[in-house]
Amino acid sequence: MARYVYDFQDGGRDLAGLLGGKGANLAEMARLGLPVPPGFIVSTEACRAFLATGEEPEGMSAEVSRHLSALETGAGRLLGQGDDPLLVSVRSGARFSMPGMMETVLDIGLNDDSVLRLAKVSGNERFAWDSYRRLVQMYGSTVMGVDPALFDEAMTLLKDACKAPDDLHLDASDLAWLVGTYKSLIRDETGRDFPQSPAEQLRQAILAVFRSWNAERAVLYRRREHIPDDLGTAVTVQRMVFGNLGPDSGSGVAFTRDPATGRPGLYGDYLPNAQGEDVVSGVRDAVPLAELERLDPRSHRQLRDHAQTLERHYRDLCDIEFTIERGTLWMLQTRVGKRTAEAAFAIATELVQEGLISPDEGLARVSGDGLVRLMFPRFDTTATGDTLARGVPASPGAAVGAAVFDSAEAVRRAAADERVVLVREETTPGDLPGMVAAQAVLTGRGGKTSHAAVVARGMGKVCVCGAQDITVDAQARRFTARDGTVVEEGTVISVDGSTGDVYLGAVPSAPSATMRYLESGEQADSLVCAVARALDHADSVRRLEVRANADTPEDAARARAFGAQGIGLCRTEHMFLGERRKLVEEMILARTDADRDRALAALLPLQRRDFTGILEAMDGFPVTVRLLDPPLHEFLPDRTDLAVRIAAVEAVGRQPDVRDAELLAAVNRMHEENPMLGLRGVRLGLVVPGLVAMQVRAIAEAVVERTRAGGSPRAEIMVPLVGAVEELRLAREEVARVLAEVGEETATPVHCPVGTMIELPRAALTAGRIAEEAEFFSFGTNDLTQTTWGFSRDDVEAAFFSAYLDKGVFTASPFETLDREGVGRLIRIAVEEGRAARTDLETGVCGEHGGDPESIRFFHEVGLDYVSCSPFRVPVARLEAGRAAL
Ligand code: PEP
Ligand code: MG
Repeated sequence: MARYVYDFQDGGRDLAGLLGGKGANLAEMARLGLPVPPGFIVSTEACRAFLATGEEPEGMSAEVSRHLSALETGAGRLLGQGDDPLLVSVRSGARFSMPGMMETVLDIGLNDDSVLRLAKVSGNERFAWDSYRRLVQMYGSTVMGVDPALFDEAMTLLKDACKAPDDLHLDASDLAWLVGTYKSLIRDETGRDFPQSPAEQLRQAILAVFRSWNAERAVLYRRREHIPDDLGTAVTVQRMVFGNLGPDSGSGVAFTRDPATGRPGLYGDYLPNAQGEDVVSGVRDAVPLAELERLDPRSHRQLRDHAQTLERHYRDLCDIEFTIERGTLWMLQTRVGKRTAEAAFAIATELVQEGLISPDEGLARVSGDGLVRLMFPRFDTTATGDTLARGVPASPGAAVGAAVFDSAEAVRRAAADERVVLVREETTPGDLPGMVAAQAVLTGRGGKTSHAAVVARGMGKVCVCGAQDITVDAQARRFTARDGTVVEEGTVISVDGSTGDVYLGAVPSAPSATMRYLESGEQADSLVCAVARALDHADSVRRLEVRANADTPEDAARARAFGAQGIGLCRTEHMFLGERRKLVEEMILARTDADRDRALAALLPLQRRDFTGILEAMDGFPVTVRLLDPPLHEFLPDRTDLAVRIAAVEAVGRQPDVRDAELLAAVNRMHEENPMLGLRGVRLGLVVPGLVAMQVRAIAEAVVERTRAGGSPRAEIMVPLVGAVEELRLAREEVARVLAEVGEETATPVHCPVGTMIELPRAALTAGRIAEEAEFFSFGTNDLTQTTWGFSRDDVEAAFFSAYLDKGVFTASPFETLDREGVGRLIRIAVEEGRAARTDLETGVCGEHGGDPESIRFFHEVGLDYVSCSPFRVPVARLEAGRAAL
């Protein structure tokens, strides 16, 4: 029979899939000899079985009873019974951390009887009733489904009635009264009583945690973090230790380093006389750990030693939840901690320098997404007035948006493309949709370990928390700053998650130090040095080359500065816009060969100048120029506009302009229902006389010009949208003819490799044939995705992708992250068959996927030679190509 329950001694960190991260790490801490309250873990397998059938899997309950008995024997106490009743906690813990998204029930075992015994044995009546009210509240909402706000309301009413500023000012009889109120509330809301049987409490709490795997916020969080839906959560059952036993007790959260900056040293918050969830929820303001050093130096010292043990053992930043029960320190949780992008780079570099991890491991711990965050602009506050407020800089970056005061409003406004900042007194997991929608989160309470801070950091969202000089009135939808400024909903504010400053209005921004480094090599601070180290190491290990998609000398120069090793896609259509449109119109409207030749001849020097500039900026590096791709009518005026213009003239009895009439006739002639599947790409080159010749001549003459100027131009000519080898053969003949012609005229032999884009399934499936005529393949994954899925790339994302994402058809848009299964398979076939036909075939990708981390991993695996992406993504691609090679 399957086994569903494990002791801490049975596990370790490598069993996170089965025991969840929390359980596996508790087991690991127990093995390291750290003080962990005893307990056991119900596995994710049990959860999956329960969620699949809705029934407790067979044998699970007997196993839980057996492990509970062992726990009871070890403690010499019984769950909820006897003079010294044993209490347990029931906590969720999935393979991947999902902070606050699932449920926890503490103090299980208390009932109307055991609460009195607990009061007696602890000598602390208030503590016993406080624990009981927590159980009834957590159980009521988590297991019995009562709206948590109702409990909060009852608590607030009581505090108001007792004139108590916080829950610490409520005494035992107040809390006993509250327990009664909570129990009636549960009865009124559910028609059932809060169960008095400790065994029943335990059983139902475990099942409720299982169920919370599918809670709306958990599902949303997983979708965002790309965590699979079928993993399930484990449940850890552990002897309760109490942080709420009096002033010599408390709970805290610590990091082995600062998770915002990566600076070494124990870092965190401590809340005397409180249980763990009070720290995270921010109900009372925690104090820094330095204060614990003053209050309880022995526990502080132990905590510091344990933190060091953990960091050395895990060889990474760890976060820790701990409780001090009457002067005894207990470790309740550890895991490799979430951190900001800045901290990730700083910590990786430092641990490499300390010799704790190898440079490869250091590289694995930073990411392209993190690098993007460091490239974002920072506020330029030189001309800004005073700050409106200052809080804890919990997740860095600069964000501007309209203040909103609840999650729903944030979602509503963001859906209408408004940028918003979610302002809350404190956030709860229910605020997750609003946090996703907002540019930044600002809270009045809570430290760097509060829910808002942890979640925002995980998402890379700007966050300032614990801004005590603001008073948030969510009901009235405003907050008031210390200087009396009232910020109503909709008012624009600027939030600096790197400094903790909040400003009224939109503060302008300036390039970040990382961006300045990438552009100019200036290593301004230690963070930038860490970024430089990571990029250098990535460059030394990556196999993939990184090129850029660029079609101006300026973009080419920027791409070079960012480390691009060439241009993988120079789109020429952008060179046909602006004032040149007139010439393109003339070419299209030409009635005779002579007219067309004149228009093409006028375009030639302009194109040559474009290519000369780009080849100069990329001197010595390959520049892959793509021949004209879009349908020609894209260069003509809009059909409806023209028709309206002509009709308006005719309506007043005048003759329309001859050119307008000609244009309309041409537009009508060229109109296509599906232009992306129409006369474009190589097809244009084959049916519009002179077009390919003009472009190739411009490229060849630019090469000659650059060569004569002493440069090393390396132009490559790329033919788009080929579906059949014959198309490429015809285009290539024309290219070869013109190259030879220019070579002869200038007495300078011009060699340009000729290749094709693979953007159609047919091209991929006949790649062996196509490679006979192609010196290189460049996968145009934008069109290849469009044509493989039959998704119009210009329409579907806005039209229905969010529904598809909700329904789980895919977890990311296939236009952003390559669809390995379908499009990826075509690429694999094309690479294999292309290389079989031509061993030195060069292969790359130039669709948007070339800058996407997950897709880069695939391109590495499939053996491409390079990825090409927009200049700003080049550093990201370098880093990710390095990580893919580890
Ligand atoms: C592609 O299709 O992937 C591509 C790079 O070409 P374009 O986006 O210009 O169609
Ligand atoms: Mg394309």
